[in-house]
Amino acid sequence: MNKRISEHAGLYIHIPFCICKCPYCDFFSITNHSLKQAFLEALFREMDLYKGLSESFNSIYIGGGTPSVLTPEEISCVLKQVYAGFVIEDNAEITMEVNPGTIDDKTCLGYKNAGVNRLNIGVQSFSDNHLKFLGRIHSAAQSRAAIETARKAGFHNLGIDLIYCLPNQSLNDWKKDLKAAVRFKPDHLSCYLLTFEPGTPLTKDMEKGIYPFPDENISRIMFLFTIRFLETQGYLQYEISNFARVGEKNPRHFESRHNRKYWNFVPYLGLGPSAHSYLKLSRFWNHASVTRYIQDLKNGKFPVAGKEMINHEQRKIETILLGLRKKEGFSLKHYRDQFGHTLPAEKLLQLQHNGYLQKSNDRCALTPKGMCILDSICELLA
Ligand code: SF4
Repeated sequence: MNKRISEHAGLYIHIPFCICKCPYCDFFSITNHSLKQAFLEALFREMDLYKGLSESFNSIYIGGGTPSVLTPEEISCVLKQVYAGFVIEDNAEITMEVNPGTIDDKTCLGYKNAGVNRLNIGVQSFSDNHLKFLGRIHSAAQSRAAIETARKAGFHNLGIDLIYCLPNQSLNDWKKDLKAAVRFKPDHLSCYLLTFEPGTPLTKDMEKGIYPFPDENISRIMFLFTIRFLETQGYLQYEISNFARVGEKNPRHFESRHNRKYWNFVPYLGLGPSAHSYLKLSRFWNHASVTRYIQDLKNGKFPVAGKEMINHEQRKIETILLGLRKKEGFSLKHYRDQFGHTLPAEKLLQLQHNGYLQKSNDRCALTPKGMCILDSICELLA
């Protein structure tokens, strides 16, 4: 290998099928699986269209949707096609998202044997009541079993996703969830605040007043508690919602190599319906329709729905926004070299003075208190 790891691109594959739709979710997926075979054929055609791409990849992320609706044989086929069509580094991180309601000992082992080396389990909560509220297809007992099954299958890099700040969820409920999660010693934890995306069934219910919108103060308290608690358990926050167990040899070993590319402007290619890509300073995205995706590829066309060049102004805003999402923040010198001006010193000082931001050497990063008001701080600085 003659390239630095940070220069390798990431490959994302979107599997657009779910067993049923969760009312809070706005990711693209369908519940009719009759097009699964045609989708896989289209996916392989899409890979063919990108043959000869100059990028090499050191991370593959199979997300969705629910990738575990695919059998281990199908995942193995997908990965074989990836290796046949792209330059994949020897040590590539290969992540797959799984839903606890869809895996067992055999499938888990099958995914491992197919080449997946990092499993991310969508647990979301260890409370059956909250799982019911979230419309999940699995119980807390199934999540526990899925984590144990994944370990038994030999996954040494295991992540758990949790969602918090649900209506009527108390701080105590959330503490119980976090404690239940760390008992399994996962290597990675993503803790997402429940968001109300426009048009989802959950958002509509909230707008009708069926459930109360969570109090901002409670979400702040829960967020700050999460960081403090996970730190005491050996997990370091490296991005606003992401925590990794401190690795023995390399402390950052369990951070998601793939997701870090999104925050660091490293190129990525997205395959599958609705998948987004960032290559050669442009962003483009595929049609969020399985039929359109299949049709375009049958006709030998890229299934691309839109494209935009990232202009100077956008890049500047994103450098601040994405940089401040990370615990390590971003380099002020790099910002100045790239954009030809410095960030307003008096505003930085004011934020520092109020405990929202910290500067060390040439880096600036948000404190946990600052992360609670990330959007307002970006607006102030951009
Ligand atoms: S399983 Fe995941 S992708 Fe599918 S609807 Fe639920 S949250 Fe969305």
